Amino acid sequence: MNKGRLWKMPVKLDEGKALYKLKLDHFETELNQLLGNKIKFSFTGEIICPSCQKKTKKSYSGGFCFPCSQKLACCDICIVKPEMCHFSKGTCREPDWGEKNCMIPHYVYLSNTSAVKVGITRQKQLITRWIDQGATQGLPILEVQTRYISGRVEKVISELVSDKTNWREMLKGTPNDLDLSHQRDTLFDSCGEELDELESEFGEENVTFLENELTTSISYPVLEYPKKVASLSFDKTSVIEGELLGIKGQYLFFPQGVLNIRKFTSYVVEIDI
Ligand SMILES: [Zn+2]
Repeated sequence: MNKGRLWKMPVKLDEGKALYKLKLDHFETELNQLLGNKIKFSFTGEIICPSCQKKTKKSYSGGFCFPCSQKLACCDICIVKPEMCHFSKGTCREPDWGEKNCMIPHYVYLSNTSAVKVGITRQKQLITRWIDQGATQGLPILEVQTRYISGRVEKVISELVSDKTNWREMLKGTPNDLDLSHQRDTLFDSCGEELDELESEFGEENVTFLENELTTSISYPVLEYPKKVASLSFDKTSVIEGELLGIKGQYLFFPQGVLNIRKFTSYVVEIDI
């Protein structure tokens, strides 16, 4: 049935192209092939927490009920600010989860989302992460052994390169290609001393500078970029429908505006395609 909770769109990269799926609890469909077709989303008014499966009036931390958002490790502040990871203090909300998700190798990367930005991610998530943020280019620049170290490295680099995506700019078009490997070399020069200090603090075996990686390019299925970026919201309109003009990041483009699918994770919707 085409009814269920919305999930973040599963993505993958195929020969340089971002491929998207639209996913509900028990329904999944390839989205790229629906470009140019009409899609209708009807929000039923229900939001169901993916952790405790209870109804919630509002969603917190990407789709959870309030009590779960206060209990789960994946909703903790250190997920947004990895340099605040407190696993080593023994205070992780869910040490088993932390062991599997944070105490594992991470990449620090540069990406091009409308300008260059620095970010961090678990190793296996690298491509997913770039597509989720609508990056047209990405380059891993350091490999480190924990989320905490990646946060500390990102903090140093973010003094010179933004760690934020300007999503409005990202949605306006395809940015010019950047020479990310040149940017990496410049950054290694400019923050060399601070990065070397981190390498001594955490040990050489835990911080690897990646000097020879290649830049990955990503193109998105877009017929037409929005002229004006208006955000569509199920909190304001229960029915959102129109011709699918494009997909980038976790956004769908419609003639009347853009819909951030991720923002409405856990909202129960019906889909007509
Ligand atoms: Zn819950």
